[in-house]
Amino acid sequence: MSTTAFPADALIAKYNRPGPRYTSYPPATQFSPDVPADKLLDEVRDGEGPLSLYLHLPFCESLCWFCGCHTITTTNRSRADVYLDDLEKELTLFTPLLKPARPAAQLHFGGGTPNFFTPAQLDRLGAMLRRHFTFEDKAECSVELDPRRLTREHVEAFARMGVRRASFGV
Ligand code: SF4
Repeated sequence: MSTTAFPADALIAKYNRPGPRYTSYPPATQFSPDVPADKLLDEVRDGEGPLSLYLHLPFCESLCWFCGCHTITTTNRSRADVYLDDLEKELTLFTPLLKPARPAAQLHFGGGTPNFFTPAQLDRLGAMLRRHFTFEDKAECSVELDPRRLTREHVEAFARMGVRRASFGV
């Protein structure tokens, strides 16, 4: 009977080094100023097919000691209103550049802590997204949540936005 040695040493040698945190694709380490703005806009205008949307809701009530996310620590919920005002302006400028036939097939809320937003603010966000995008019937919608501050009203608000999958973490 032949045996094949498990290449543990090779695997350890291969992966025993710092790597990017794959919380987004492409990872931030691949962002480059060498891509000019007009090239980026061409990509946006010429793009085809379904959209995958990521909404970064960058607020937390307190900062976890291990946090590597882009977040703002505050208990002031009106910061989320200002964020939503700015997001509305950005969507008004940006979405007319997209081909109108492109549906949204995926939507993900990360952060920060998306349930930092009040249920009323989440309802406002959901209405805004429905005004600017057409979602496929079976669009995949998911959210990252801080279970320490999650209420039934939050769950119901995310459900109204079409969210069907949640991951919990702090
Ligand atoms: S809840 Fe998440 S994003 Fe907020 S401070 Fe903790 S690890 Fe960072």
